[in-house]
Amino acid sequence: TADVHIKAVEHRFKAFTALHRVDLQIGAGEFIVLLGPSGCGKTTLLSIIGGFLTPSEGQVLIGGRDMTHVAPKDRPTTTMFQDYALFPHMSLRDNVGFGLRMRGVGRAARNAKALEMLEMVGLADKAGRRPHELSGGQRQRVALARALAVEPDVLLLDEPLGALDLKLRRQMQEELKAIQRRVGTTFVHVTHDQEEAMAIADRIVVMNHGRVEHCGSPEEVYLRPRTMFSADFMGETNRVPVTPSGGGVSSPLGPLAIAPAEGMLCLRPENIGLAEGFSLGRATLVEAAFYGSYHRCHFRPLAAPDMLLTAHLPQGAHPGLGDEVELFGRNPAVLASEAA
Ligand code: ADP
Ligand code: MG
Repeated sequence: TADVHIKAVEHRFKAFTALHRVDLQIGAGEFIVLLGPSGCGKTTLLSIIGGFLTPSEGQVLIGGRDMTHVAPKDRPTTTMFQDYALFPHMSLRDNVGFGLRMRGVGRAARNAKALEMLEMVGLADKAGRRPHELSGGQRQRVALARALAVEPDVLLLDEPLGALDLKLRRQMQEELKAIQRRVGTTFVHVTHDQEEAMAIADRIVVMNHGRVEHCGSPEEVYLRPRTMFSADFMGETNRVPVTPSGGGVSSPLGPLAIAPAEGMLCLRPENIGLAEGFSLGRATLVEAAFYGSYHRCHFRPLAAPDMLLTAHLPQGAHPGLGDEVELFGRNPAVLASEAA
């Protein structure tokens, strides 16, 4: 395992700047997720770490060594692309041992390592099978075993679960996380799915237009976003402009008992409820829809009838349509940069 230090990395494709001075420190053994919409530069950054692209400016240090101009095969990294291709005519054992064979490792040692890796992904009993005999999720696990068999210090994964259906993807996310913990290898994983990022990351790097918007734990990025882009990308948020007043803030909803601040108060729908927290004033339920694990409710505040607050209330806990209730907020985050 090794740390990765990205220093002022800039990347241009002709006149187009895909990465603007990205600085990022990834700890050894960390599970980092690069998250952002399509085109924000995730694959470009991953390719620069793996050595498939040389940055226009800046440096990439892996394990403290400058790797900026080192070829992919001479880096302690392995990249697993979304369209990981297993060799159809080879057994799983030979597929997993392929990288070792390329490095001149003998058959016995190769097979032993391949079996160990297949065991780790729960497929040891299928070592003699061919890829077409497996399900999509199983093939994915073989690709992971193959990538880890060469014992890279850093594993780079570009949307590896993108082709799987939702249920299998959830399962594979948990397995990926468990395997990463077990092997202790640094994982840099690319996705555009914020739920996947939160489920697996130690830290999430939110990217937008070639820039890092926020880098932090899933809780930090979700509950304490630094920018409105991060706030919106991580999930739905209610916005209320606030200005400091007395010991709290004033807002279109009236005075709110939160720490004095100037900017845009962001509240996740699950952090608006009927009991705990600071009062958001009285509001009328104008719409409610059942989503299984919660009710999604739109409230019209009495003090600001042109506003709607969205709350996710637990099953069976929502008032009737047209009922007036007092709403409460929890986990407030105020974005100073978004001052009204
Ligand atoms: P992501 O993986 O986040 O979807 P990419 O890193 O693939 O984004 O691309 C970032 C931006 O750089 C996009 O606008 C893309 O069109 C552009 N880009 C990527 N590769 C090339 C290339 N080889 N030549 C020109 N532009 C490119
Ligand atoms: Mg990409």
